[in-house]
Amino acid sequence: MTKIQREQIKDKIIQDIASIEKEILDLQEKTKPIAPDCSLGRLTRLEMIGEQQVNEHALHEAQIRLNKLKYAIQKVDKESYGICAECEEEIVFGRLMILPESTHCISCLSELGN
Ligand SMILES: [Zn+2]
Repeated sequence: MTKIQREQIKDKIIQDIASIEKEILDLQEKTKPIAPDCSLGRLTRLEMIGEQQVNEHALHEAQIRLNKLKYAIQKVDKESYGICAECEEEIVFGRLMILPESTHCISCLSELGN
């Protein structure tokens, strides 16, 4: 990986962290408990609960990704960044630009089954 590529990835991580933090705030707002006294019909209330569960799941996923990105930003300047944890080959730049938190190359990831 070149120095320029590393800088590009770093920028990407910073952008991703900012957007995911915004998303988390938004989802936290949406997952606030529904007031029991709210004068909604039963169906609307059930719909709201269903939607809330979807949002809670999304919130959980977003928090996991945020943690991974924060870990990636600490590692990005180190030599070990962008090296597959399994086969120690370089992870392709295109993949890191999409998922900067990647710790495995594509072939190892498919072998690991995720
Ligand atoms: Zn690998």
